[in-house]
Amino acid sequence: MIGLGSIGKGTLPLIERHFDFDKSRFTVIDPVDTNAKLVTDRGYRFQKTALTPENYKDVLTPLLTEGEGQGFVVNLSVDTSSLDLMKLCRKLGALYIDTVVEPWPGFYFDDKASAASRTNYALRETVRKEKKRKPGGTTAMSCCGANPGMVSWLVKQALVDVATETGVKFKEPKSRKDWAKLMKKTGIKGIHIAERDTQRAREPKPAGEFWNTWSVEGFLSEGFQPAELGWGTHEKWKPANARQQKKGCKAAIYLEQPGANTRVRTWCPTPGAQYGFLVTHNEAISIADYFTVNDGKKVSYRPTCHYAYHPANVAVLSLHELFGSAGKVQDKLHVLEENELQDGTDELGVLLYGHKKNAYWYGSQLSVEETRKLAPYQNATGLQVTSAVIAGMVWALENPEAGIVETDEMDYRRCLEIQRPYLGPIKGYYTDWTPLESRPGFYQEDIDIRDPWQFRNILVR
Ligand code: NAD
Repeated sequence: MIGLGSIGKGTLPLIERHFDFDKSRFTVIDPVDTNAKLVTDRGYRFQKTALTPENYKDVLTPLLTEGEGQGFVVNLSVDTSSLDLMKLCRKLGALYIDTVVEPWPGFYFDDKASAASRTNYALRETVRKEKKRKPGGTTAMSCCGANPGMVSWLVKQALVDVATETGVKFKEPKSRKDWAKLMKKTGIKGIHIAERDTQRAREPKPAGEFWNTWSVEGFLSEGFQPAELGWGTHEKWKPANARQQKKGCKAAIYLEQPGANTRVRTWCPTPGAQYGFLVTHNEAISIADYFTVNDGKKVSYRPTCHYAYHPANVAVLSLHELFGSAGKVQDKLHVLEENELQDGTDELGVLLYGHKKNAYWYGSQLSVEETRKLAPYQNATGLQVTSAVIAGMVWALENPEAGIVETDEMDYRRCLEIQRPYLGPIKGYYTDWTPLESRPGFYQEDIDIRDPWQFRNILVR
């Protein structure tokens, strides 16, 4: 296991709970040893090392090849290249899983690189290229956390629900093409990954500190990347700073502004209408790509897809401070541990909109109180991620020769079946809300009243 941060700490006891393995060969690698006792007290090895482009082969190869059986790399670190690690694992016949396409350090904050090259689109394309170059072989799962990850499984379940309840005649699809056709037939214009984190810190956040319920470094990296979204065929308007990608699948566009400073209107069951940040995420692109219907060389249908994230209030305040002070990152970065939270829920789901019944949110409503009963060392946000990692690992063991896969391509029923006990209530809600509602309404606005579900109405300008 690479990385013993907030997600690594939570995943460790779940790996123990769910898998049989040779204890003497389990090694955790992290350059920071603050939590090393968690590992060594259990009888596993802790290796205090930062993986780098220069050393990763030498560090990992002996660990993955000693003794018998098949190795497995669970990558839960920041600052390591998912692509390089995945390639090495597949060469050695070891299984691999990660929760984002992570680059080596330098990528996210390179102010000389073009905006297009700093997108998640560009990162995903590197993995797609490798998949094309070397199809099949040992399974390596890309982006198998909560989002990206679990939300791709939720999208399929939500689509089946909406298609059924709006009277669409269909058989459960078996191929990507058929899934895309079903999305089109059901009349879905777009999908928000709509999340509201209401987990509340016991203490008020001091000025000059960035607090979050998961990796602050991870959040800042993606939050500073350009806002990015899968671009649907129903869209009639683009913001002036929207840019198209020139190479690859072309399923997404990006805006020349940081995602964590870009707001959109969305909806979650508990708050109802809310603002979310349009932070770039791999799933915004992979879902839009997966559900694309092609008519020869032409794209005849694609849903818009993007993240609409209302993080914990302390994180919203942290972002406000940061962008308000010209993007200067606070001196202290802090991930709230489960015992620092007094209450709250991470409501993480998918909002499928534009169909006959307007919009449907389907997802997990996991509270921190329930999380404490289910698994140690993590909050609700963490458990949604770590349980997806466990589901992905089970799927990989059951499908060890599936090649490089994205979560959209995995068996959503099987994965949700494994993950379900850890997600709190998983519920679906229909809503009449559209982005034309819940606006202050005092002033003239540049909106499209003929189609409520245009991005023009969703983006807060
Ligand atoms: P964290 O910052 O708490 O922990 C990251 C760990 O990586 C730290 O312990 C750090 O010391 C270690 N690390 C840093 N450089 C390293 C190197 N060169 N080699 C080995 N280890 C190194 O982050 P987290 O909250 O645990 O998140 C871990 C990863 O999971 C991040 O990439 C994050 O973006 C991702 N994540 C994905 C999802 C999802 O739903 N898909 C959700 C949360 C986090």
